[in-house]
Parts: sequence; C-alpha cells; structure tokens
Amino acid sequence: MSLKPTVLIAEDEGALITLLRYNLEREGYRVLEAQDGEEALLVAAEEKPDLVVLDWMLPQLSGIEVCRRLRGRQETRNVPIIMLTARGEETDRIRGLDTGADDYLTKPFSMTELLARLRAVMRRIRPSLAPDTVAIGDIEMDRAAHRVRRAGKEVHLGPTEYKLLDHLIQHPGRVFSREQLLDAVWGSDVYVEARTVDVHVGRLRKALNVEGVRDPIRTVRSAGYSLDDAAMAS
Ligand code: CA
Repeated sequence: MSLKPTVLIAEDEGALITLLRYNLEREGYRVLEAQDGEEALLVAAEEKPDLVVLDWMLPQLSGIEVCRRLRGRQETRNVPIIMLTARGEETDRIRGLDTGADDYLTKPFSMTELLARLRAVMRRIRPSLAPDTVAIGDIEMDRAAHRVRRAGKEVHLGPTEYKLLDHLIQHPGRVFSREQLLDAVWGSDVYVEARTVDVHVGRLRKALNVEGVRDPIRTVRSAGYSLDDAAMAS
C-alpha cells in the first residue's frame, strides 16, 4: 500500500492533465486520472483518493454534478475537492462552493498556486498525509531529509537560511517585511536587528545561486522580500 497521498485529477484537457501529473508527482503525490464525470465517480469509488481536483466543465457529468454525488456517498462524503473553473463563471463558482467544494481556482492558474492550495487542504484535513516535499520553480525542499536542491543540485544552507526558505516557500509571491520574517524565523521574543534579516537573505540568495539560474528572491524596496517563481520562470 502506498503511503503517498493520492490525488484524483478529473479533467478532460490532456495538456493540463500532463502538467498536473508532473507537478503533483514531483511534490510527492500519487496521481489518478479521470477524463469525464462518470469516470471520476468510478475512480473515486474504487480508489478512495485523499483529494480530488475537479474540473467544472467535464464531458458526461459536469464537475458540479460529480461534486454533488461525491458528497452524497458515504465513502466519499468527506473527500476534499478543489474545483477548477474557467474565467467568467462567477455564479457557477459560488454555486460550486455551496455544493461542497473545499476550494476553487480559476483557469488559467499557476501551478504554484494550485500546489499551495492543495497543501493547505491536506494539512487541514489530514496533517499526517501532507507531503514533506515542497517545490517551487526549480527549488525543491525535502523537509523529512532536511535537504534543498536547486536545478537538481544540492544546496547547503545554514539553519537560519533553511528556516527562511521554509517560510518563504510556503507563501510564494507574498511579500514579507523584515519584521514579519524576524517573527517567523527567529521568534517574536528574541531581539534581533532588522538588518540581520538582510544578512541572512543575502546568504540564502548566495546559496541558491546555482550557475546560470535566476535569483528567486525578490527585494521589494521598503517593503521586504518574497520568493517568486514568476521571476524564475521568465
Ligand atoms: Ca474541461
């Protein structure tokens, strides 16, 4: 039996399935697929996934109907569901939440955003199943092994830089002030000067600076720092 959390992807766009599968497997999930609504119900009943990523527009049965039926069955009643909707389906979106989806994302969405939502749902519902591996862009963090890799190469971090990265990677794209980073990494009861944060961010940057790859940490003047995969991707 696999100890990896299982995610069912119910989606009919082949390219998106491939992309989702790649990213979810990389993040430590076991991935199942269903390309229409009927199949989604069948796979869900047979395999009892830990989480379902459900597209709104599916052949045979719509995502909303699949959602309703999953909620109506004893064995899938509590399975977390993240709904994918297309732009402009505002009312549908709200109905989706009423029907019992735990979260939703509007297409096109960033993979980082989806993975962050997935982790949040997994943590909330089954903390023991949340994977220990986090990835953003070409940075991979294995919390169980306490290891970091960038573009496939091992990165050696001091304990403070490791904690900094761990905090930033939880909230990709979000800007943290020096004070917020101090609280998160050093703790609020320790007196550390704000510029200490700059020193450690500098070290983290240097460590992550594998040859030929972009700086993933964005400095926002007078605001703080963020870890940004958009900066890495372009
Ligand atoms: Ca679709």
